[in-house]
Amino acid sequence: MENILDYTLEELQIWMKENGESSFRAKQIFDWIYKNEWNFENMSNLSKKTIKNISENFYIGIPEIIREIKSDIDGTQKLLLALKDNNLIEAVVMKYKYGNSICISTQIGCRMGCKFCASTVGGMIRNLTAGEMLGEILRAQNKIGDRISNVVLMGTGEPLDNYDNVMKFLKIVNSKYGLNIGQRHITLSTCGIVPNIIKLADEKLQITLAISLHAPNDLIRKKTMPIANKYSINQIIDACKYYINKTNRRITFEYALINGLNDKNEHAKELSNLLKGLLCHVNLIPVNEVTESGFVRSTSESINNFRKILEYNGIETTVRREMGSDINAACGQLRRSYMKGSLK
Ligand code: SAH
Repeated sequence: MENILDYTLEELQIWMKENGESSFRAKQIFDWIYKNEWNFENMSNLSKKTIKNISENFYIGIPEIIREIKSDIDGTQKLLLALKDNNLIEAVVMKYKYGNSICISTQIGCRMGCKFCASTVGGMIRNLTAGEMLGEILRAQNKIGDRISNVVLMGTGEPLDNYDNVMKFLKIVNSKYGLNIGQRHITLSTCGIVPNIIKLADEKLQITLAISLHAPNDLIRKKTMPIANKYSINQIIDACKYYINKTNRRITFEYALINGLNDKNEHAKELSNLLKGLLCHVNLIPVNEVTESGFVRSTSESINNFRKILEYNGIETTVRREMGSDINAACGQLRRSYMKGSLK
């Protein structure tokens, strides 16, 4: 049995033809699934024979909700989801004025090893398939009873470490027969796997690329991000220039401020010099204090100073509005506490 969500429309059309069905059935099935009908039996415009044929070969891989936590502060909803093989992932739904946004996971666990991040503590179990990533969105839409219009690939996992599945996922999310979410409403965040940033640039998509930089130089970056031993910041910046050239899209640099480590005035100046002239903006994030990491968030005074220095140097800067701070909404923390047994 295969997860039908792993199929693009074209692939399902081919399957139909090869299995004695008319190819237009594929569109009908897509239409049902992406309108939240997840039982083949209820797809009333399909023939009995088609329903039998499709049910014998496919399942609709929507993950089950194991835990659900809603923020009292801003309504952010965190979903702990179980996949068909019982592995757990998490997704976060945020409500903004302009629509609903979802932060999805791309892998089960992560092998990048960033020291401040809860997702990486147990290592990586496996990649998610395109269909499993889509399942996160479909489940969440069904849960909130509303359309999701923005997707950020910023949950557990490194999207560029699961390149092919993520590309297929983007294709189906974007397709008018799939979720029909515009590329400009999708953000992919990476810790900086340089060859795959270049590859992504060559796809010439209109998605937003976010780079988890978190340091103004390689020395500091190596203290928290093992990937910095493989690719230097200069290589990342060159890859970003290439991305901008190919796509004309503004890059987001994420910078988690950690007390004493990367939040001093000199670091802000160094970062300004690094990014000057680049089509980009910086998103400052007060680091979420993960129990295992021991890192402490910067004071609001340091955060403000840091932002002022960047802005003074002409770098557009935002401080991330913290969503769901009362529900451990960040980066693998729910899955982590569930697996440690501290959340029952
Ligand atoms: N692997 C990808 C996407 C997942 S992480 C990446 O590295 O970009 C999403 C973002 O959350 C990244 O910027 C990541 O560095 C950041 N992050 C992880 N743990 C964090 C924490 N404890 N506090 C603040 N940001 C964190």
